[in-house]
Amino acid sequence: EKLTKEDIIKRAEELDVKFIRLQFTDILGIIKNVTITVDQLEEALDGKVMFDGSSIEGFTRIQESDMYLKPDYDTFTILPWRPRKGAEARLMCDVYLPDGQPFIGCPRTILKKVCEKARNMGYEFYVGPEPEFFLFQLDENGRPTTITNDKGSYFDLSPVDLGENARRDIVLALEEMGFEVETSHHEVAPGQHEIDFKYAPALRAADNIVTFKFVTKAIAMEHGLYATFMPKPIFGENGSGMHLHMSLFKDGVNAFYDENDEETGLSQVAKYFIGGILHHVKGFTAITNPTVNSYKRLVPGYEAPVYISWSTKNRSALIRVPSSRGNGSRIELRSPDPSANPYLALAVILAAGLDGIENKIDPGPQTFDNIYEMTPTERLAAGIESLPGSLKEALEYLSKDEVIKQTLGPHVYEHFVKAKLIEWETYRIQVHQWELDQYLGIF
Ligand code: GLU
Ligand code: MG
Ligand code: MG
Repeated sequence: EKLTKEDIIKRAEELDVKFIRLQFTDILGIIKNVTITVDQLEEALDGKVMFDGSSIEGFTRIQESDMYLKPDYDTFTILPWRPRKGAEARLMCDVYLPDGQPFIGCPRTILKKVCEKARNMGYEFYVGPEPEFFLFQLDENGRPTTITNDKGSYFDLSPVDLGENARRDIVLALEEMGFEVETSHHEVAPGQHEIDFKYAPALRAADNIVTFKFVTKAIAMEHGLYATFMPKPIFGENGSGMHLHMSLFKDGVNAFYDENDEETGLSQVAKYFIGGILHHVKGFTAITNPTVNSYKRLVPGYEAPVYISWSTKNRSALIRVPSSRGNGSRIELRSPDPSANPYLALAVILAAGLDGIENKIDPGPQTFDNIYEMTPTERLAAGIESLPGSLKEALEYLSKDEVIKQTLGPHVYEHFVKAKLIEWETYRIQVHQWELDQYLGIF
């Protein structure tokens, strides 16, 4: 749907909108709002609303502290859980500088640039995300715990599962905001859920992920629950991933499909795209898995990938090729987690895939055996490498990957690495409970 300025003004009036949140994300993917009243809507739609960029993590360049928000008209939507009299709406925005140039530190702008590059090569990039999350109880002070409601309901006489109710209301709110929710289900771990929505062009898909997280947290809160997208909140249980189903379309036709390829049904373009991702995955993992905690998820035994491989058969591969073909042909990248900034994550993944196409990077043979059952020697012999084992290691690989660094640009790269090295260092010097349990009694 293409909305004009007049459409939005009219719609705001019809829906009795009083407040509009102008939204964007910082480099770490945290959603930010500048809220205006409807009186300023026209000015906002003209991109004239200013904010202080120096107050945003990663936007800090003194000469760039005056920044402007340029709304993407098609993202106008009401926030259905807020009051309807004097309603609240939102618009997703790009960040601009006073001289009218797009700000190079704006994650949405970075994704747009890579999508533009794909378009110049004739491709439109489509993404279907599968974000997982936990619903936890709050303590008496309203702080999140890691106690799940599922367990509570064991002892609970009430037949109502709070978690299921919350999930239903999340789906209803999303649908009212124009999402097409495909499936929503309980996941493997207690208190863990997944909601999958329809694939979309990458920019829209990233907007949807940001919106999804924000809606999920808000609705969970209304149910007295806390929704978390932390990748591995509970040791010994599955973590939360955000698998990405991806395809390229050329002139409206799925460019990943080749009916003549008997082994895989995949085109050469798809294979090179896979090749590019496998080649750059170590370099972009710091972006798709950006927290210390992300690496507690990427371990054997919990349906999260560890080894760098692709397969049309094996679910445990880093890149799985689901069985649908024709226009449904796609690949599923299983490593990303929902703590990632979706704009930056999609930007680096697409850049990696395009690099594979441009440089004809062969993905190598697919793996058929269950690679988790192979011994390290067998994996070595088969040339199967592992994803980085920690945030620190991932940052080291990132520093060596010129394609990924160029995609992020020096501004985002430097701010991101600086913030993440501090995060790593703060973590590294902690004394963890595990160490006390392990050493206190012995030494
Ligand atoms: N929760 C698993 C992960 O960490 C994925 C489970 C699934 O296949 O949906 O990626
Ligand atoms: Mg799942
Ligand atoms: Mg999946």
